[in-house]
Amino acid sequence: MERWPSLLKPLLNLFLESPCPLCQRSTGDDFCRACQRQVQQCQLLNPQQCWSDSLPLFVWGDYSGALRRAIAVFKYENQPQLARPLGHWLAHSWLTHAPTAAKRPLVVPIPMHPAKQKKRGYNQAELLAATFCDITRLPLNRQGLKRVRSTEAQFTLSNTNRDQNLKGAFQVEKELFRANPSTPVLLVDDIYTTGATARAAVQTLRDCHIDVLGMVAIAKPSFYK
Ligand SMILES: [Zn+2]
Repeated sequence: MERWPSLLKPLLNLFLESPCPLCQRSTGDDFCRACQRQVQQCQLLNPQQCWSDSLPLFVWGDYSGALRRAIAVFKYENQPQLARPLGHWLAHSWLTHAPTAAKRPLVVPIPMHPAKQKKRGYNQAELLAATFCDITRLPLNRQGLKRVRSTEAQFTLSNTNRDQNLKGAFQVEKELFRANPSTPVLLVDDIYTTGATARAAVQTLRDCHIDVLGMVAIAKPSFYK
C-alpha cells in the first residue's frame, strides 16, 4: 500500500497540470520552468534603490520582457492566480532587503474603481497585497483606500494631465484608519510608472493625517528613475 502514493503522484500531476499562462506549455506550477526563469531574470539587484525618494519606493523587478508580459497576462487575461508567484517574490525581496528603519506598516492596496473591478473580476493590487501580507505577516487593510472617481486610462494622457486626472480619485476609509492612527501605510501596486497614481493616493492619505511609509510594486520601467 505504501507504494501507491509514489506511483500515483505522476499520474495525479498529469491531471493537475494546466497551460503555462505565458507559453501554453503544460505545467504543474504557476509558470512553466522556462518562463519562470525568464520572469525571474527581470528581478532587480537593489530593490530598495528608490527608497530614499520623496515617495520611498521598493520594486521587485524591471518592467520589461517576460515580467512585463506576465503582469499584462495577470491583469488582462483573467489569471488572478499569478498574484501568488509575483506576490511571493515581492514579499521575499521585502523580507531580505526591506529598509531596516522601516516601522511595521499597515498594507493598503491601490484600489480600482468598483465598475472597473466588477468588469475584471478582481483588483490585481489587492491580490498582490494579500499574498505579500501572508508571507511578511504585515497587517492588511484591503479597503483602506477607495477609488471614488473613475479616471481615464493614464497612458492616454500627457504627464501634466496625469496628476490632474487623478485629483479626487481616492478616498480614505476613515473608520478603519481611526483604529490605529499612528501606524504608517505601505501602499501596494502592480507597476509604478510615472508615479501619478502613487502621488494621488499619498496626498489623499496625508490629507487625513495618515503617515505613508512608501510603496511596494512588482515592477518599474528602468527609464523612470
Ligand atoms: Zn511557459
